[in-house]
Amino acid sequence: MTDQAQRVNGDVTEAVRRAYDRYGRRSGEWMERYARQGGRVYCASGCVACCNMPIRVSLAEALVMAAELDEGLAAAVEAHARAAIANARTARSDDEYVQRHRLEVGFCPILDRETGGCSRYEARPTRCRDTFSAFPAHFCEADVWERMSARERAEYRREVARTPGTDGELHFIAPLEHLSEPVWETASRAMVDAWGVEVWGDYWVLTTLARDERFMAAIMAGDTRAAWQRASGRGLAHRMLLEFA
Ligand code: SF4
Repeated sequence: MTDQAQRVNGDVTEAVRRAYDRYGRRSGEWMERYARQGGRVYCASGCVACCNMPIRVSLAEALVMAAELDEGLAAAVEAHARAAIANARTARSDDEYVQRHRLEVGFCPILDRETGGCSRYEARPTRCRDTFSAFPAHFCEADVWERMSARERAEYRREVARTPGTDGELHFIAPLEHLSEPVWETASRAMVDAWGVEVWGDYWVLTTLARDERFMAAIMAGDTRAAWQRASGRGLAHRMLLEFA
């Protein structure tokens, strides 16, 4: 990569990292107020229940993570990307895609299974930063809803409705998710300023492509056709998991 390309992409990742820092401060302040009012956030180090969800990111965020991977982890991320693509190709609905991703594609390879922590915590993408639970961890597990009886589902709905901070339907803390909107906007602006094009999609697919020089050269030239062809040539193109805007 040329010096100029490195500078341009450095500007993109720097903008994202600053947005992550701002989100960290704002979400921390929000959680302090929430705790003072009696609210409880159950997420803690060692809890891995949500690390098998599909994750949507911008290429700007993927670049941040891509820079932190060694060859071994990059290969594991690529294998995960290929499993996500295979799932997308055969899933008959969005629900099936999500459910199979969680149960069959499985946990993010960046997760340290020994400690239950994210092995690249400082570089984790927005979705991993803004997902917080107002209920204990087992409610975040993949098929918890399917395992509940009708009575348990009714009780879940009542509990969610009376828990401050939820959206009234799910046990996740909605304001902490809304607070991350500036991060998405920052990533969007940074991509347009740098490349004239936005790239969004699956976290592991984009993290793999962010390390691919030919893909990145096409993006930096604003040539989405060439970028798609490169992704396609590597078996990493799927209209749901790689989008240009
Ligand atoms: S990047 Fe880290 S926090 Fe996000 S899913 Fe992977 S292991 Fe979990």
